[in-house]
Amino acid sequence: MKRFSLGGNAAATTTSDTPRYRHWCDPACGHEAEPEPPRRQFLRSSLGLATAGGVAGLGLGGALAGCASTAPAGPADVVLLNARIATVDPKRPRAQALAIVGEQFAAVGSDADMQRWIGPRTRVIDAQGRTVVPGLIDSHAHFIRGGLTYTQELRWDGVPSLADALVMLRDQARRTQPPHWVQVVGGFSPYQFREKRLPTLQEINAATGDVPCFVMNLYDRAFLNRAALRVLGFDRNTPNPIGSVLEKDAAGNPTGLVVNTTSLGGLVALFARVPKLSDDDQALSTQLYMREMNRLGLTSVVDAGGGGQNYPEHYSGIAQLAAERKMTLRISYNLFAQRPGQELADYQAWSQRVAPGQGDDWLRMVGAGEYILWAATDPANFGKSVAPAPAIMESKLTEVATYLVGKGWPIRMHASYDSTATRILDVLEKVNRDVPMKNVRWALDHCETLSPRSMERVAAMGGRIAIQNRMSLDGEVFAQTWGREAAADAPAIGRMRAMGLPVACGTDSSRATSYNPWVSLHWLVTGKTMGDTRLNADRNLVSRDEALRMWTLEGAALTGDEARKGSIQPGKLADFALLSDDYFAVPEDDIRDITAVLTVVGGAVVHGSGAFAAQAPAVVKPMPDWLPVNVYGGYQQRRKSGMAQAPGAAGMHGAGCCAGSASAPIIVGDRGNWRMSCGCAVV
Ligand SMILES: [Zn+2]
Ligand SMILES: [Zn+2]
Ligand SMILES: [Zn+2]
Repeated sequence: MKRFSLGGNAAATTTSDTPRYRHWCDPACGHEAEPEPPRRQFLRSSLGLATAGGVAGLGLGGALAGCASTAPAGPADVVLLNARIATVDPKRPRAQALAIVGEQFAAVGSDADMQRWIGPRTRVIDAQGRTVVPGLIDSHAHFIRGGLTYTQELRWDGVPSLADALVMLRDQARRTQPPHWVQVVGGFSPYQFREKRLPTLQEINAATGDVPCFVMNLYDRAFLNRAALRVLGFDRNTPNPIGSVLEKDAAGNPTGLVVNTTSLGGLVALFARVPKLSDDDQALSTQLYMREMNRLGLTSVVDAGGGGQNYPEHYSGIAQLAAERKMTLRISYNLFAQRPGQELADYQAWSQRVAPGQGDDWLRMVGAGEYILWAATDPANFGKSVAPAPAIMESKLTEVATYLVGKGWPIRMHASYDSTATRILDVLEKVNRDVPMKNVRWALDHCETLSPRSMERVAAMGGRIAIQNRMSLDGEVFAQTWGREAAADAPAIGRMRAMGLPVACGTDSSRATSYNPWVSLHWLVTGKTMGDTRLNADRNLVSRDEALRMWTLEGAALTGDEARKGSIQPGKLADFALLSDDYFAVPEDDIRDITAVLTVVGGAVVHGSGAFAAQAPAVVKPMPDWLPVNVYGGYQQRRKSGMAQAPGAAGMHGAGCCAGSASAPIIVGDRGNWRMSCGCAVV
């Protein structure tokens, strides 16, 4: 089993002897000295990119001398020339070249400016005129949980047709070794398929035969094949999973369809019963998932926790990778309340052992969320009716929020609908009278129907907004459920920005959306779903520069890291991506096809392809051999997929697929009757 290590030898450089520093931008720099930012010990990279340990210190010393005395700057570890750099620094939005010393950018400017940074041991990279952006920051992803199962999942992310998807399912069933299952765990949309529909149980059973199979559409529904029903022991007497309906046929036997009616808890519990890889293989899976993120230009994620993602046991794997210096992606994580009704006790227990800020730039705990109280949330899919939170919600949330803000814990809270946000804000305003909310960074997440009034209330308490492109996958369903007019403002990005609210963007991967950040950037710029349905009104579209800012600097600001990362500026962490295509020049619809050809985190190369492949670190081999990731890799890029064309594309939902909602079957759920919007299984 070949493992890739970031920490080859342990020669460390620190700047503890230089408590204050000046800007490294220019020898004649007149900037005032600033406090030295905290720097973790930098273990030299074994990737062949960075040079010997002492050089970083030399470079820094030279820069200090140069800045103060106009003497030439010392050598950099890395200089990147001939690039088109979008810095996301308003003072210098574009640049041509950059220099890196140790983990940080040392200089940004023109090719000529960089000459004095080049020494005999400096690694000089020719960007070949390509576009460079700050490393992308997914400000809301369920990364740690997703990493544990990434390699065993058959990911349909980007697959262009259901016909292709079913071929993948069939082939993977033939490969999969017992006791493992074939599993597709969200991240795709039926609208990305040319057929514009989900598979049927018959199709899934035909493709997978005797190999147990679990296919989940977002958090909406799961399909279990006959073999899975057998392994689980599901029969006519099996009760509905929590918050869900187990569909039964006329004879009373389960068909294999499980639909989330009131809570995603049932689907989560079902997936928990699918056999998992060993701890070692889960660690490999997490490394592969980080590398897949790096391939797409991501250098940081803010982890939103998740149901069943308990501290500390489900964080020990990622902590181990961090301790072994195997991180290639920076992770800031939030602790998600695990026990409905016992949320305060969860946080009281956790605050005994961990505090926000604990960790380092690779792995750091940053606060609470995205659930701090289960009762204060709303559905994860737009096709579900929204049941009002119980009346006890306000008093419970007051307790939990007062406790967290009092302890100085930043808060993130899931709120798709304004009806949820309104009640949360009622509570936070009350908390704010005793403990100022402005003492912590806090944000509402999703906010698809957040009203202008609620935006004002968020702004008044110094809050932030974190949106995600869930509409990319579930937008058609949103429009069917709530109407096209509501969809045009879901979310009302234009209004948020006009109000001056800080807005960061992310994905909400890996189940509620795909993890590909470029699908999200595409959505911000075009207002289109993965199924090419234009939903967002013009007033909610943003420029490419603004979209990039929401995916970089605004994400950093959510965790209080805006002075450390999120833009390409001297003194910030050297995280950037060299792109496959010019993000600023490609046709809008091609934004979603962009990848990175070179990704650098903290001055170390974590991904390289094409002309930059030689720069890339060793490949991590997924184990065991039968894993789908060994065959399909990660996201199925449109232009490179080379997959068979679908035999024929069906029309959109409603175009002959069903007789309309009047004929949709009624399912008797555990909280009343519930009806699918249509019987065709395209919801
Ligand atoms: Zn959420
Ligand atoms: Zn989430
Ligand atoms: Zn239909």
